[in-house]
Order: sequence, then C-alpha cells, then structure tokens
Amino acid sequence: MKKFQAIRGMNDILPDEMFHWHFLENTLRELANNFAYDEIRFPVLESLGLFCRTIGEVTDIVEKEMYAFVDRNGDELALRPEGTAGCVRAAIEHGLIYNQTRRLWYMGPMYRHERPQRGRYRQFYQFGLEAFGFSGPDIDGEMILFLTQLWQRLGLTDYLELQINSLGTAAARALYREKLVAYLSDYKDQLDEDSQRRLTMNPLRILDSKNPAMEKIIAGAPNLMEHLDDESKEHFEKFCQLLNAANITYTINPRLVRGLDYYGKTVFEWVTTELGAQGTVCAGGRYDSLVEQLGGHGTPGIGFSIGLERVIELMDVHKTVTSQPTNPHGYLLLMGCQAKGFALSKFLREQVPNLCLITHCGSGNFKKQFKKADKSGAQLALILGDDEVENQTVTVKFLREDKPQETLSQTQLVTLLAQLASQEELNL
Ligand code: ATP
Ligand code: MG
Repeated sequence: MKKFQAIRGMNDILPDEMFHWHFLENTLRELANNFAYDEIRFPVLESLGLFCRTIGEVTDIVEKEMYAFVDRNGDELALRPEGTAGCVRAAIEHGLIYNQTRRLWYMGPMYRHERPQRGRYRQFYQFGLEAFGFSGPDIDGEMILFLTQLWQRLGLTDYLELQINSLGTAAARALYREKLVAYLSDYKDQLDEDSQRRLTMNPLRILDSKNPAMEKIIAGAPNLMEHLDDESKEHFEKFCQLLNAANITYTINPRLVRGLDYYGKTVFEWVTTELGAQGTVCAGGRYDSLVEQLGGHGTPGIGFSIGLERVIELMDVHKTVTSQPTNPHGYLLLMGCQAKGFALSKFLREQVPNLCLITHCGSGNFKKQFKKADKSGAQLALILGDDEVENQTVTVKFLREDKPQETLSQTQLVTLLAQLASQEELNL
C-alpha cells in the first residue's frame, strides 16, 4: 500500500524538537509583552490580489513562489507567503489603526513554493512586529532594541550582524532607478536571466541578487545612499544616532533592498554567516504607503519578520539553550481496580493543578506496569492494589531515589506530589 509522506519542503516538528520551539515562542511572547505589543491572528488564506498588490507583481514571491488556487466558488485565493499584508488588511478592516497608534505582533506558518534546501522551506514559521501611526525614526529604533534583546535572551548576539539601509521616498527611488538602469544597461549581456528581466520591471531588486556572477557588476553600481531625498536622509541619520546611543553595532549596507515592494526609508536585516546560503534570520523595514495602498487612511507603518527555523538552527548549532528533561511526576499502577484508579487520578489532578501524571491504560500484570512506570521517566510509581483500595491509601515507590517505599493516605500523597511539582517550577 502507498505510504503517504509529507509534502516536499513542509516539515513535521517532532516531540524531541519541541523544547527549542517552546523556548523560542515563549521568549518571543514575553518580549512582545515587555514592549507592550498586542497579538493579532489572521487567516492563512487571503485573496490572491492582496499579496499581488502589496508585495509587488515583479517579485520572487508573486512571480514564482505563491501557493495560489481557485476555490470551489471560483474565488482566487493564496496561502499567505508573509504576514504584513494580512496584518494590515485585518487592522484596516477592524479599525485598529484609524487615527491612533498601534503596536501588533503575530506568529504562524507562511507558505512559499521555493526550491527546498537548508533554511528554505515551503512551509516555515515567522514571528513579526508591526507598528502603525509612528512616522519618526524612534519606532525604527524600538524595533532594533526589541531584536537586540531577543538575541541576548536566546544567546545568539555573537552570531548575528545588523545591516541597515534607507530606500528613501518613492520619488527619490524613481530618480535613482533611472541612474541604475542606465548603468546596468551597459552590462546587459552579462546580466543573468533574472536580472535581465528585472532591468525593466524592478531594477532595484538586481542589487539583492544572490548570484555570485553578478557581484562585480553590482559592486560598481551607483550608490542608493547618495541619492536619498533630504527627509529620508535626516530620518536615517537620526535612526543611526539612536542606535549609537544604545551602543548597538550595525553595518550600513547600501545594497540592502528588500524582496517586497512596499518598503521605503529604513530597511534592515540581521544576518549570520553560520547557516550557509540562507543567512538572513530577520528582515524588515518601513512601509509608509502600504495602509493607504490597501484602502486605509494614510498611516505610516514599520515591521519585521523573523524566520523561526533559521533561529532554531542557530540555537541548535551553538547549543545556546539546553533542554531540561520534563519527566512525569508519577505513574499510577492499577491492580484490578480501574474505576477506583480513575477516580483517584481525577482527585489528584484536581488537587495538584500542575501535576504531570500518567495513569496506566490497558491491561498488564504488576511487573509489566512497573516496567512501564520506570521507562516513562516518572519519579514515583503510585500503586493502587486491593489493600490500598480497602484502606484508602496508595503505595509509593521512589523510582529515582534510594528510599524505602511508603504507604500514604490520599491527602499525604497530595502533599508529596504538590512538593514535587513546585520544586520543578523553582528549577525552571
Ligand atoms: P531570502 O532572501 O532568504 O529569500 P526573503 O527576502 O524572501 O528572504 P522575507 O520575505 O523578508 O525573506 O522573510 C523574512 C524572513 O523569513 C527571512 O529573513 C527568513 O529568515 C525567513 N524566510 C523567508 N523565506 C523562507 C523560507 N522559504 N524558508 C524558511 N525561512 C524563510
Ligand atoms: Mg525569498
């Protein structure tokens, strides 16, 4: 019979890997809370047009990576390739950003039909912040502060470098674009296929080419920084001053452009050299015209997103957080009194809310059940046999300590289990 396998590029995340995921997700939630950002959740499916219009028709994502399809009603839909478009759509739809400032965060799976390789999957997870209604560079700085603290908490500071750039206003970019096209046209024959196509459609994206053969041509291109409008220049300088004041190290990379069209002014990336070709762990920037472009009231915005698989891999490579064993506190053995055991486990769980207890299910003599208890990693084997039922007691065997077994009343057992469970909390 045919065995089903996961879709190419889509990963199962198995129990053994969960410690890292939970650690990362909890850290992100905590930090978002520390910075007073509110969570928002929006669907994985949206209208195809939402992404085409915002991300840009001539981008990798829209041209070749979108999971788009027509549903049974004939509606054109797409699995979200990123979070910002859906977040802005939802924020406008529910009036969250009308005439007010708003700080939001999201986390969830994104979908892109790319060639799967290390750090590049077809389903991957992103966490992102989005802030609305702030036009000054202070919020740009806040995003960087958030990320700096995040890397600290994850122990990754030493492996990541911050790169920043400014894309200027649309008008400044249009002027620069002309110069860039003029320059690149001289090398037209040497441009790779993608770049030749982009030369007329989206020339700035050529600067972002990952093809080593293009490196030399790109290195000689006119510098975007030198073509910024005064307002963007001032914004960028203030942004840099804020970073300097906070002692944050960064590199200005004038060739840093983003693969999505909605960005202007500040853009940034955190990169590492440790993950092979997929070195960008986090990317973001300002999108001051996106809200208006989606039919909202003109509201400036800025955000970033982090590729969680890449962060997990960095945590893994450097063993920055090591997993603590999470063993059950007890394993309840039932000797011919299943119903009583059921009632006991209900009672214990009610009395000790953070108790981790396995109740033996299925058949098995004492020896078999005891073996299972030992294998489960539980600290205590709790034995409920005929004598115990009659006397309303439980026999406790210490599986990890050299202590004689004890027979306890149910109340004494609750006290013992509560102690175990609270000790564990202290250790965390
Ligand atoms: P790249 O240059 O790596 O293709 P991108 O510019 O397409 O990245 P963004 O759209 O800015 O990426 O996404 C933000 C982050 O999400 C990336 O920096 C990366 O960490 C992560 N990411 C993007 N695409 C993938 C993918 N296919 N698999 C895993 N992570 C991804
Ligand atoms: Mg990409």
